[in-house]
Amino acid sequence: KGKRAFIAGVADDNGYGWAIAKALAAAGAEILVGTWVPALNIFESSLRRGKFDESRVLPDGSLMEITKVYPLDAVFDNPQDVPEDIKANKRYAGSSNWTVQEVAETVKNDFGSIDILVHSLANGPEVTKPLLETSRKGYLAALSASSYSYISLLKHFLPIINPGGSSVSLTYIASERIIPGYGGGMSSAKAALESDTRVLAFEAGRKHRVRINTISAGPLRSRAAKAIGFIDMMIDYSIANAPLQKELSAEEVGNAAAFLASPLASAITGAVIYVDNGLHAMGVGV
Ligand code: NAD
Repeated sequence: KGKRAFIAGVADDNGYGWAIAKALAAAGAEILVGTWVPALNIFESSLRRGKFDESRVLPDGSLMEITKVYPLDAVFDNPQDVPEDIKANKRYAGSSNWTVQEVAETVKNDFGSIDILVHSLANGPEVTKPLLETSRKGYLAALSASSYSYISLLKHFLPIINPGGSSVSLTYIASERIIPGYGGGMSSAKAALESDTRVLAFEAGRKHRVRINTISAGPLRSRAAKAIGFIDMMIDYSIANAPLQKELSAEEVGNAAAFLASPLASAITGAVIYVDNGLHAMGVGV
């Protein structure tokens, strides 16, 4: 029987979420995506108008189908959490049921269950500020959007993930090595996400027989990465210094995610898997 995947964090065809959706679709999975509410209109209209058709082509020549796009804001767990100014915001008021709990409920009502949960989202309002200049508010916002969002998604989706299912998130080596420029508490948020991957692997494994892993991905020119401001430098650095001297493609990360979600990875859980052309293994630049 085909598997069903929910991928949180797809709002265009440039990021890791899109590439993971494609790799899962190529492997025969049904694709549901969660799209950040403020980006929903443009994503859906671009999809409808065929703007992504070239990027939807799968290896067999068919086009990836997205069965349903769910509006999602992963910093809110339920309607009681949503402050008045957000409720009144035009972009938010135009959609409904976009808190994590409501999205999980809607997916349950629509499809009953899923097999694969992907978290491919992050946000750090002060990412361009050094950690020493980061405010408490900015730091906590980075952790809320980039780390707790995963705990919340998993907590609400776990009851509808079929036993034997799997979940994967995306992390970055700035969690464990100094990457100047990845600021605002984003390095801290990735460290939390990786630690949580281990603890959640234990809890979800024991309780639901679900595997939890995270992919530490190399640099990709996504929308989020461009906002940080140093992505071209990081790509050049990787090509110059990594064991494999080539630009990393989003597809390579997508393929690794599809592997981790598949029975081929049935004994892998609680792991940080590097998909970075080997850059993490270097001790010095060369
Ligand atoms: P991206 O812009 O494609 O994805 C980030 C997504 O997060 C966007 O679609 C955005 O709309 C969404 N988002 C932000 N706040 C949200 C919220 N509150 N609720 C729901 N969605 C929200 O960029 P990407 O680089 O592909 O990022 C995907 C993941 O990959 C992130 O976790 C990122 O940290 C990680 N990553 C990226 C790189 C890189 O170089 N691009 C490297 C390592 C890890």
